[in-house]
Amino acid sequence: MDGRVFEAMAPFMNNHWGNPSSPYSFGNQARISVEKARARAAECLGCKPAEIIFTSCGTESDNLAVRGVARALLSRGNHIVTTAIEHHAVLNTCKALEAEGFRVTYLPVDSDGAVRLEDVEQSLRPDTILISIMHANNETGVIQPVEAIAALAKKQGIVFHTDAVQTAGKIPLRLCSTGADLISVSGHKIYGPKGTGMLFIRRGTPIQPLLTGGPHERSVRAGTENVAGIVGLSVALALAMESAESECARLQNLRDGFETQIDSAVPRIKINGASAPRVPNTSSVSFESVDGESIVLGLDLRGIYVSTGSACSTGDPEPSHVLLAMGLSPKEAQGSVRISLGKSTREGDIRTVVDALAQTVTRLRGISSIENTDTMR
Ligand code: PLP
Repeated sequence: MDGRVFEAMAPFMNNHWGNPSSPYSFGNQARISVEKARARAAECLGCKPAEIIFTSCGTESDNLAVRGVARALLSRGNHIVTTAIEHHAVLNTCKALEAEGFRVTYLPVDSDGAVRLEDVEQSLRPDTILISIMHANNETGVIQPVEAIAALAKKQGIVFHTDAVQTAGKIPLRLCSTGADLISVSGHKIYGPKGTGMLFIRRGTPIQPLLTGGPHERSVRAGTENVAGIVGLSVALALAMESAESECARLQNLRDGFETQIDSAVPRIKINGASAPRVPNTSSVSFESVDGESIVLGLDLRGIYVSTGSACSTGDPEPSHVLLAMGLSPKEAQGSVRISLGKSTREGDIRTVVDALAQTVTRLRGISSIENTDTMR
């Protein structure tokens, strides 16, 4: 967490303990802080404060958007369009909705990991009530054409949700300018607290709450507000937006440098999504004849922390659904790792990681049974 975020949150975990729903003065102070945080967050996204609902995480924001809109619009239709590469917070919500009787189209992506606008257009039906397509993919960083999808959805009168957990504060863009009706954001991707999130809901968008109870968050999300978390999330987003332009350029330079260096240091690799527009902090690399999990463990021993697929699927033996959807074979997908850069990443770190990766992959290929018994070529 950014130290400035921690400092902004600390008073709300000890001195300012008031409940924002309580009428006494301590409660009022907390209410004012929540509303200031809402205004700060709205300014970052480019919307009205009343269009922000604070949640407990990106997953809850996705659930609220997809389930909430689907259930609210059931009398109009029951068809939802999404993609095969969504985060499980959207994918599994869609699967659960299918069990309730909704119909879902899971659109494919091209070999660079981007959905085609024509596919979105062709999937729409008179009973389509919701399109949910992520802004940038969490495994490859590939940015989807959400502005064009939003325009298409608007023309057809269909609600459009985008999971912007990977772009909020990472690119210099006020996200509401994409034209999406609902936008999910998570705190811990932007040096904010874990367990915080928010959902932009464009005024007038029909939505049914997931949590019922008191009238908190305009009766869209019942439950006493996490005041410290809400303040922390809004400060984290404001700080991320402040430096997004310079940080984006700096990380892109480092990421591109990393990819050039790893490509010349290690034979038989593939950078996934390399020719698509991507967020600058993510690199997904497939190493032929090596198991990604072994690379993760090998680098961990050297104090370098990378992941296979998404962090939320750690421990899942299945190859990444995102890489499979891009046309990689199960073996190629299983030989992939995702490297994330952040605000503390410097040029020297890139060199260190390239050297460590080259040594780890060479060693693993030397002892690999896949390498000795199998050819992926
Ligand atoms: N959506 C995307 C694209 C993500 O990358 C993540 C987290 O990694 C989530 C949703 C879930 O967010 P959270 O971990 O805050 O629930």
